[in-house]
Amino acid sequence: MQGRGAVPGIGRVGRIPAPSEDALDVGSLDVVGGTVGVEQARHGCRRRGVHVGTVSVLPGRERSVFASRPCEDGAVIEDRELVHLRRCVELAAEALAAGDEPFGSVLVDGDGEVRAEDRNRVAGGDRTRHPEFALARLSTTLMTPEERHRATVYTSGEHCPMCAAAHGWVGLGRIVYVASSAQLSAWLSELGVPAPPVATLPVSDVAPNVVVEGPVPSLVEEIRALHVRFHRGNAS
Ligand SMILES: [Zn+2]
Repeated sequence: MQGRGAVPGIGRVGRIPAPSEDALDVGSLDVVGGTVGVEQARHGCRRRGVHVGTVSVLPGRERSVFASRPCEDGAVIEDRELVHLRRCVELAAEALAAGDEPFGSVLVDGDGEVRAEDRNRVAGGDRTRHPEFALARLSTTLMTPEERHRATVYTSGEHCPMCAAAHGWVGLGRIVYVASSAQLSAWLSELGVPAPPVATLPVSDVAPNVVVEGPVPSLVEEIRALHVRFHRGNAS
């Protein structure tokens, strides 16, 4: 299986991310019911999922390809991960209750243990106090580089460019978010909120080697409602 081709029994089109080492675009692969990831050779890790074959990116160098488990959410989320995402929603609600913007994040190590969590804390005037940024910095004191690489950051909203950069710089692993930055931008635009001073970019534009999954449709509405409440000051 090389380049474009249909994989029997698996559905939907997914783009194979370019391997981080040599930045080659190896094309697209048709998969069914989820996304596709290429084994990341640089760190020796692999994305969860069903092994569907290999692709050759250079002569003699094959990479394994994994298709995600089909999921009605459209994201590669298992029950044990939904627990973390629901906690992110709770933390976002806690931030809102404290008068802050509703964002929350959880740092989970490679063994599935929660190592830290935080919520937005920008109401005091420091606009950099995003939970993802705090967790990225905290992770350097809590974890070894290898542990950081195996860790996952769950978050209510996709990392902003500042947080995505911090995540990439400290070498953290996968990101799973409930709502995308594009979704948040659309909501805030609808609410008449002025554009932020920093560009809205997907994590993949800032930290291209980070595996990112989301949005998670079953929780998106809860997050949207929190943002509506923050900006309108009433329940929605
Ligand atoms: Zn941020």
